[in-house]
Amino acid sequence: MLVTLKELLIEADKGNYAVGAFNCPTLESVRGVVEAAEELRAPIILAHAEVHNAIIPLEIMGPILVEFAQKASVPVAVHLDHGTNLEMVKQAIDIGFTSVMIDASHKGYEENIQIVKEVVEYAHKQNVSVEAELGMMTSSGLGGEETYKEKSHASENAANYYTDPSIAKDFVEKTNIDALAASFGTVHGIYVTKPNLDFDRLERIYENIQKPVVMHGGSGLSEEEYKTVINRGVRKINYYSYAAKAGAYAVKEYLEKEENPFYHDLTVVAKETIKQDIKKAISIFSNK
Ligand SMILES: [Zn+2]
Repeated sequence: MLVTLKELLIEADKGNYAVGAFNCPTLESVRGVVEAAEELRAPIILAHAEVHNAIIPLEIMGPILVEFAQKASVPVAVHLDHGTNLEMVKQAIDIGFTSVMIDASHKGYEENIQIVKEVVEYAHKQNVSVEAELGMMTSSGLGGEETYKEKSHASENAANYYTDPSIAKDFVEKTNIDALAASFGTVHGIYVTKPNLDFDRLERIYENIQKPVVMHGGSGLSEEEYKTVINRGVRKINYYSYAAKAGAYAVKEYLEKEENPFYHDLTVVAKETIKQDIKKAISIFSNK
């Protein structure tokens, strides 16, 4: 069933777990993700990243995500990931998305607030949840799919972009967002060096804002790291790159051994592999 992000995260807060948000730029990924969630009886977030418009545009993939969410036997929010402007947000809401992220974190602080406020005013009127970002998540440069920002590589000055806990409090109060994407050491894409997570910072952010924290660049951490961040207030984890990579490697392996391959068989291999990878992620995020 289709629900808002806010509803999902209220439950996650009560239960001290995180809900996985999975970008789905292909039919194989949305099928794999929804099957995984239904088998585990877990809520999920189906996301379309604006930057994936180059692979498949929002107007084609969006209605598919909404339909899968409506038909699912578990609660599902449909979310725009890293929306860059109000027009894109409006387009997603018109399609039936129940959640949007507006990312103006690369702008100055006051401008970020203004842009986010405008989106919150528009979205909340239509019962759509809003996530915004403060601080900046960098990209490893390897499959940093969900961001359009070209900030830097892995650890290069990443700490300069970490979210300041006291500014986070001010930002959440002024914008009235439903969830905050905070930067405390994760990067988008495939990790080239071991991430150095600032757990104390995360804890202070959560204490200060009293709202769910979102972790981007959320694939590729250890099980222990996931549990630690969940216990410190992370309620939504954006997980994508490692599932997409798992699907690709399974297809590669299949092509190497299959002498007479057909394209349709590749989609089955990809879907099954993505599903298994997502099941592992959902199990960890449940924090049981
Ligand atoms: Zn992100």
